[in-house]
Amino acid sequence: MSTTDVSKVRADLEHSRDELRERLSELTTDGSAAQDFDDGFADSAQVAAEQGENASLAASLREQLEDAETALRRIAEGTYGLCEVCGEPIVEARLEVMPATSRCIKHA
Ligand SMILES: [Zn+2]
Repeated sequence: MSTTDVSKVRADLEHSRDELRERLSELTTDGSAAQDFDDGFADSAQVAAEQGENASLAASLREQLEDAETALRRIAEGTYGLCEVCGEPIVEARLEVMPATSRCIKHA
């Protein structure tokens, strides 16, 4: 992978990391985002369901955030684009779809 590509990937990852952090902080403040969504209609069961959804959404955002941070660390270390299991280069088509991936197709 060329240096130009890596700096573009890094910019993208930094952007999505910031965005994920922002969405996570919105989700984890007090759930007010969910209440705005359904203002006036929320009963307690609905609120509970929304909080559950928020919790699982937050968990998946947190996972994506970790992936982005790991990928950024790997870019800094110069190991980005190599499979963490076998050390083989990850095909670029895969990195294009999943820029934060740290494993080749065989070890996905
Ligand atoms: Zn591998």
